[in-house]
Parts: sequence; structure tokens; C-alpha cells
Amino acid sequence: STIARDVSERKRAEEGLQKYRLLSEHARDIILFVRSRDQRITAANEAAVRAYGYSREEILSLRVEDLRALETGHLTPLQMREAATRGILFETVHRRKDGSTFPVEVSSRGATIGGESVLLSIVRDITERKQAEAERERLLAELDATLASIADALIVYDPQGNILRLNAAAERLFGYGGSQRKAGLGERMASLQVRGPDGRPIPVDELPLVRALRGETVVGAVAVIQPSPERTVWLSLSAAPIRDHQGGVLGAVGTYTDITDLHNLQEQREDFIRTISHDLRQPLTVIQGQTQILQHALASEGGDGRNPQSLAAILAGAKRMGSLIKDLVDSMRMEAGQLPLHWQPTDLHAFLGDVLDRAGGPDTKARLHLTVPEGLPLALADSERLERAVMNLVTNALKYSPEGTPVSVKVVQRDGQAVVSVSDQGSGIPPEDLPHLFERYYRARNERRAEGLGLGLYIARLIIEAHGGRIWVESTPGQGSTFSFTVPLAK
Ligand code: ADP
Repeated sequence: STIARDVSERKRAEEGLQKYRLLSEHARDIILFVRSRDQRITAANEAAVRAYGYSREEILSLRVEDLRALETGHLTPLQMREAATRGILFETVHRRKDGSTFPVEVSSRGATIGGESVLLSIVRDITERKQAEAERERLLAELDATLASIADALIVYDPQGNILRLNAAAERLFGYGGSQRKAGLGERMASLQVRGPDGRPIPVDELPLVRALRGETVVGAVAVIQPSPERTVWLSLSAAPIRDHQGGVLGAVGTYTDITDLHNLQEQREDFIRTISHDLRQPLTVIQGQTQILQHALASEGGDGRNPQSLAAILAGAKRMGSLIKDLVDSMRMEAGQLPLHWQPTDLHAFLGDVLDRAGGPDTKARLHLTVPEGLPLALADSERLERAVMNLVTNALKYSPEGTPVSVKVVQRDGQAVVSVSDQGSGIPPEDLPHLFERYYRARNERRAEGLGLGLYIARLIIEAHGGRIWVESTPGQGSTFSFTVPLAK
């Protein structure tokens, strides 16, 4: 009966193995049975035949080390014990019959089959996974190289505002050594002492980075930081959220440009404007005042004919110089955005009538004609600034056209705006000058009179554009010019 039991046991074991073979034939992974005693391969599936390039008989004559490509691929006795009891998972490299190799992940577990202890190994070809990993490494290295070569500082943050990646420029700019870059948002900001351009600390909630983590995109904000007591840095910074496919915020990216030099230049420029407007104008005021005193004195003494003329010329010259300096200073201030507009509803008819009244004496007034349509809505404008623009156009029209010829100022309503045009019958402007007339210091070659700086039309453009309007010119040489601009109308 012992023999009978042995036979039936062996039969059952055979059957079990049979089932196992059937299953393993269809597996995509390589399945090997390795006899513990001599490391010989006792079974291999179809996937193994395909992968290693041996026939099944050949495989069954191999020992497991014949498949290993690495000297180091051998299991240590400890690993063997581990494999036999709990099973182990490891990566190694296997070799095909033709000598070529491929990376594998091996999952081995001990078992007893037919009274014999074997190691059952499932071997997975991980060539693709390794390639994907290598590709990922390559992309990350490329990303790091790209970030490193960006001249501006760039930092990638996680959703809590911790630093994930930063380039060399960022390390330099913020002075982030090893420990600081690992510090949390609050600690980093405290050590940088982030302030706004007005010198006030920026509340954490309003920091561009924090706004970006809330989903906002911030472009061109300005901040001042103090990475160390002796170093103050002005920054132009932008921050934007990084989103996943569903639109969730994965983190943020911030870019930072050191604009300290630019800021210093701007301060110098402001000093310069202040110097011109105060220090240069003050002596002119003295010249004008004293000239007027002399004029009065001469008038009461009844001096000879030449002196009063000289005094009048000095006075005119001083006034002229005063207004040139004003043009220079105002255009610089407007460029720097330092002259905010004071908007008010403006009746263009009354406003233009007043401007033309101030344009000159009776002879001049006789040349000026104003046409404004009935019922034109009020315009929205800074009337002091707008007067400057209109006056520049009107004095040019008078200056650059023959005496006695008409200069007309017309207003029409178009697309919710007023279009104001000033037309003269002067010599006109050569076509090649037209595109440049509104540029700073530009003077056309038609008329070069000594008085101008070429700033009048430039200032007019700055004023009109500050109002959200447009200014342009049409001119036919020999027939005259029309300068037009738009002003917004009150809704
Ligand atoms: P300025 O009059 O001080 O030279 P502007 O900026 O006012 O400077 O004008 C720039 C140039 O455009 C002038 O030098 C002149 O050549 C030309 N210009 C301006 N207005 C007229 C006009 N109405 N007719 C002909 N040329 C003009």
C-alpha cells in the first residue's frame, strides 16, 4: 500500500505540474524552475525559449548561472534562504544564446515539487522600463542643463511653496545655500525681508508665489529683497501656477530678474529731472524778473530806442528757454509715468474756444475757426494736459503756414469718441517725415526754425495716448496738413 500511495502521490504531483505547465506556457513572463540541489533548470516555458534563444532541450541542460550576464548576479546564501522562504525580487542582467544581454526583474520563491526543493523564478524583461527610465533621466538632465543656462533666476515650487528645483542664477540671486533652500516658505521669506517698491513688507498672502499657488498668474511685479545685510536687490518677478490635466495646481514656477542697476538708473534719472526743473529754472526766473525791473526803470527814464528792444529780446529768450525746459521735464515725467491724469467731464466746445482765445493776439484769432457739432456729449479728459496738446497743434499750424491763411479746428463724433482735427494751409510735410513726426526730438526737413526742440508733437502724443486716444497726421505737400486725435466721451 505504501507503493500504491507513492504512485498516486506522484501521479497527483505530475498532474499538478501539468496544470502548471499549461498555465505557464501562456504567460508573457519567463518562468523557470531551478533545482536547488544543483541549480539546474528543470522546466522553462515558451516565453523563456523565445527570450533566451535556446531550444527547450538546450535550456533544460543549462544551469541558472549560464543565463546570468553579470558576475555579481549570484544570490548570496542569505538571499537564497530568503528566496526559499518568503520569496525575493531583484534586478539583474541575463544573457541570450547569441551572447546579447537584457535587463530583467526576477521574482524567485522556493517550493517543493515531487519531494524536491526548487526555486520558481518569474523573469520579466525590463528593457523597455529601463529605456523609459534612461529617457526620463536624460530629460531631467536636459531640463537641469536648460534651467542652468537661463540667465534669469528660476525656481519650481511644490503646492506648499517648498523649493523643488532651482537654477544656478536663483542660488546666486537669493544666496540660497544648501540648508536655506530646504527651509519652508515662511522662513525663507523672513530671511529675505521681502518688501514692495514703497519699502513696506509684502504680506505673505500677497506674495506673487503665494498668489500663483492659489492659481493666479503674476507678471512683472516689483519687489525688494535683502538676502544679506549688505546686499539689497531690486527684483522684477513673475509667477504662474503649474497645472495638471484636470487644472489642479501641482505647484508654481517663479522667474526673477535682478533690476537693481535699472532701478539705480531710474533714480539717477529722477534726480536729473529734479535738477533740471528746479535748479535750471530758478536762474531763469531771476533773469526774467530783473529784466522786467530794468524795462520799467528804462520806461520811466525814457531811455533811447535800442535798449528796450534788447530787454524785450532777453525777456522773450528767457521765456522761450523756460518753456523748452518745461517741455523737456514734462516729457521725461510723462515717460516715467509720473504725471497722473486728473479726469473730468469736459465740454469740448467751451474748452476749445478758451484754448483758441489764448493762442495769440487779435491777428492770430482772426485766422482760427472752430466747428463743434450741436449736442456733442461731454468728453472725459484732463483739461490742463489736453490744452497743452491742442495748443501744440494749433501753434504749429499757425507757425508752419503763411500769415493770414485760415487754421480750422473741427470736432466730429465717431465710435463713441470725439475726433478733433487741426488743419492748416501751409507748406505741408514731406511723406518721408510723416512716420517720424511724433517721435522725440524729431524735426521735419520742411521747416527748421530755430525755436523748436522737436518735442511739441511728441508731448502731444504722450498726452493723447495717456487719455487712451490716438493721434495722426495727413498732409499733402503744398496744400497743408491736418493733425487729428481722439478723446474719449463720457458714457
Ligand atoms: P517743433 O515745432 O518744436 O520743431 P514739433 O514736435 O511740434 O516740434 O514738430 C516737429 C516737426 O514737425 C516740426 O519741426 C515741423 O517740421 C513739423 N510740423 C509740425 N507741425 C507742422 C505743420 N502744421 N505743418 C508743417 N510741418 C509741421
